[in-house]
Amino acid sequence: MYDVIILGSGPAGLTAALYTARAGKKTLVLGGDEAFGTLNKIPNLENYPGFLGSGTALGEFMQKQAEQFGAEIVFKKAERIKNNFSVTCEDGTEYLARVIIIATGATPRKLEIDGAREFMGRGVSYCATCDGFFYSGKNVLVIGGGNSALNDALYLADLAKNVKILYRKPSFSRGEQVLVDRVNAKENIECLFETELSSVGGNETGLTFATTTSGDKIECDGVFVAIGHEANTDFLTEEIKRDNLGRIAPKSLPAGMYVAGDVRSELKMQVATAVGTGCEVAMDAIAYLNQNASV
Ligand code: NAP
Repeated sequence: MYDVIILGSGPAGLTAALYTARAGKKTLVLGGDEAFGTLNKIPNLENYPGFLGSGTALGEFMQKQAEQFGAEIVFKKAERIKNNFSVTCEDGTEYLARVIIIATGATPRKLEIDGAREFMGRGVSYCATCDGFFYSGKNVLVIGGGNSALNDALYLADLAKNVKILYRKPSFSRGEQVLVDRVNAKENIECLFETELSSVGGNETGLTFATTTSGDKIECDGVFVAIGHEANTDFLTEEIKRDNLGRIAPKSLPAGMYVAGDVRSELKMQVATAVGTGCEVAMDAIAYLNQNASV
């Protein structure tokens, strides 16, 4: 029996683990299939105060620090939670805890157009930092107009021959100005506003073109999709209420259950906010455990 089980090994989960372990609570992190969540997709983290480097490097520091205070961290995915405090993993192992902290993060939203599923992994990608290298010297499209799309375009511009950002609005209204300015300064990035795709196509070797809703055909080798995120909460039972993006409102959870990071509703998705909510829920969980010693 653990005092605390934390689901997720992104900045929210690892911060919570540091706090609960350091408070002497027996802490297990079920870190998912992939360590550090979205941190791994950030090649240059510029806006987390006091740190400049890759997201993965920050994740490694956070893991070591939590382990140093006794947190146990294993990279397994929770498959379901029974009676709120029994977690079963994909390999069938069951873990029990007095408190559960959900910090399972979010996954990129899928592009639902003709050919997008067929060419996934053969031209359609949801991770510029993972797949960008395969498009060195090639022509790629980035779909979306938020910070992720702008960051992806900037990352790809250093590898690809040409990057076109396709955004459905008339101008970048969501992205940070510093990123918009960098995009505008890149000679090999072109922005096509009020443009949406209706399909992608190609041949047995991979993707070769995309078609816009106005009927234009754009020749390209890859399409990088950055159209937002959906929370990773499919493993939860229906009793845990979620919004249309799968996110959980903290107040909707039963006593002893907490939510932190990108999976929490109405949170600005930032490393700093993930760390902040990880700290906040860990402190609430510690107080709950201290006040409910018999739970
Ligand atoms: P986002 O800000 O929600 O942007 C999603 C973009 O995709 C929007 O431009 C949206 O268009 C577009 N879109 C949505 N559905 C679409 C569809 N079906 N077809 C075409 N376009 C579609 O998502 P995000 O960029 O993933 O960012 C998520 C959060 O993480 C944000 O809070 C962001 O600030 C944060 N983030 C921060 C950083 C950073 O700090 N540097 C980096 C990455 C992400 P509309 O604008 O028309 O809705």
